[in-house]
Amino acid sequence: MTADSEPDIPLLKRSLFRLPGSTACVMNVLHFDGRRSGPRLLITGGVHGDEFEPIAAIRTLAEHLTSLAETDLCGRVTLVPIVNEPAFFKGCRCAEDGLDLARVCPGKSDGSVTERLAARLSDLIGDADLYIDLHSGGTEYRIQPLAGYMLHPDPVVLERQRQMARAFGLPIVWGTSAELQGRSLSVARDAGVPAIYCEYGGSACCDPAGVHAYVDGCLRVMAEVGLLPPRPRSGRVSVAVEDASPESGHLQVSHPAPTDGFFTATVRGGESVEAGQLLGTVHDRSLRKFPVTADHAGLLIMERTFPRVRQGASCGVVMPLHGPQVNSLPVRQPEESGE
Ligand SMILES: [Zn+2]
Repeated sequence: MTADSEPDIPLLKRSLFRLPGSTACVMNVLHFDGRRSGPRLLITGGVHGDEFEPIAAIRTLAEHLTSLAETDLCGRVTLVPIVNEPAFFKGCRCAEDGLDLARVCPGKSDGSVTERLAARLSDLIGDADLYIDLHSGGTEYRIQPLAGYMLHPDPVVLERQRQMARAFGLPIVWGTSAELQGRSLSVARDAGVPAIYCEYGGSACCDPAGVHAYVDGCLRVMAEVGLLPPRPRSGRVSVAVEDASPESGHLQVSHPAPTDGFFTATVRGGESVEAGQLLGTVHDRSLRKFPVTADHAGLLIMERTFPRVRQGASCGVVMPLHGPQVNSLPVRQPEESGE
């Protein structure tokens, strides 16, 4: 490269989506275009404003993609580090209208702040060929690392989602109900766009191991789908199940608190539980004790780490490993290296 030639990097186009009527709220959208054709992959973080591993990971991914030669990238990668900026600056899951962005998709272009952001996000999903939505346990929960997807009725889409979830390389792969509405993945499902979501950490922190795992996982998926040169598959999956129960994957309704109060957990994330086992206890303001017991056996994948709990909020999520609508998938594929 001569001193006055252009640097050989993918073309980065930045677009700022500004909410109508607002000068403060924007959605920062970064497009990286490779020189050769290939799939269009969308990766989003910050759908919930108190989930930090995704935001840090996407910022790191942007730096990584900026340093790539454009000939190394086949297709387009679109990154949105923070979908829900109003919620992020509030330090909360939701923005000032109190709506959960993962419940109001596809949103309304003339609606409230969250509905408008959902509408913009839905447009981006519709423009993609593949989608990864990164999450965490937020302020109040810690969640075990997993890659999830909806059990899409189209077998081609479903198989692509299984492939992406496995390639991401987190320990748990979890396929769940295709019936859930209002989410980013609901929009992808309706548009026929293969999509996965990922979970890691939370508890109001930004775990560096989670950031690293997210960056590595996104790069692995990019290699798997042909955006980047191929690389050996990881073989890091230790549990892979698909659960077709109607509410599977709806984390916020699992094991609701029986009253407002102080929650003390008796089981930690990643531990096995039996049906009826005590998950924890809520003490109300009169110091009365309310036990919270497991609805079913399985693995505690989401633990409440924030003691103050409101009636109806989840006290933990148990992922069933067996059951009439639960299928176990092989954890290892022949070509995986088992590193
Ligand atoms: Zn989330």
